[in-house]
Order: sequence, then structure tokens, then C-alpha cells
Amino acid sequence: MEPRAKSDEQWRAELTPQEYAVLRKAGTEPAFTGEYTDTETVGVYSCKGCGSELFRSDTKFHSGCGWPSFYQPLSDTVEYIEDTSHGMRRTEVRCATCGSHLGHVFPDGYGTPTGDRYCINSIALTLEPRDD
Ligand SMILES: [Zn+2]
Repeated sequence: MEPRAKSDEQWRAELTPQEYAVLRKAGTEPAFTGEYTDTETVGVYSCKGCGSELFRSDTKFHSGCGWPSFYQPLSDTVEYIEDTSHGMRRTEVRCATCGSHLGHVFPDGYGTPTGDRYCINSIALTLEPRDD
């Protein structure tokens, strides 16, 4: 089925309550609790909602912010939405294939090649270790 055509009931059935809260309700996992915060394993991170490949480990860096941080997604794999919730102006990052919430992107540099920090919930991702 086309991932965007899934009903809320289907998402609830397929995801754990914690995954559902982040992916479908734009929740945020608590800082420093995610599975991949400091992971350095070489591989590809794909969307928990639909399996689309989103980030490669060679764009992951240690930001110290408590969530996995990347400086660049694979091209055309994510979409951006202006988020003014919680009294802040932020840019939300969603999977371009299934529309699931992944995290936010901040232009705060950290000396990365793009100057961007994609602050992504571990629970929204699945890491596939890979050698290439
Ligand atoms: Zn997806």
C-alpha cells in the first residue's frame, strides 16, 4: 500500500505506542535515551514508518544534543515543514515517502560541511549496518 494512504488505525497497529507518538504525532523521545544517539556503526538509516533510506552514517556527527545528529539527508528523502509549536520557530523534518515525523533541522553549524544539524529521533530510524 502507498504509505501515505495508510489510515491512522493502520499506523497504530504497525507501530509501538512510542513509535506512533513520535512518527505520527510529532513527539520527541527524551534526550540521551535513543538507541542511536552515539552510534558510530557504518551503515544506512532508514525510516521506521516505511523503510525508505534517509541518512548515511558518514554524515552523522556528535553534537552532544542528546539525539542522533546528521548534517545531510540522502537527496530528496525528506520534506520540510515550518513548525511554530512550543513558542519556537523550527523546521520540522518528515519522511518524504510516508510523511512521518523524524525530527527537526537547525542551522547551527557545529562546523559540519553543510552548517546544518538534523536532530532526529532514534526511534524514527532503523540502522542497517553496511560496509560500502
Ligand atoms: Zn517513511
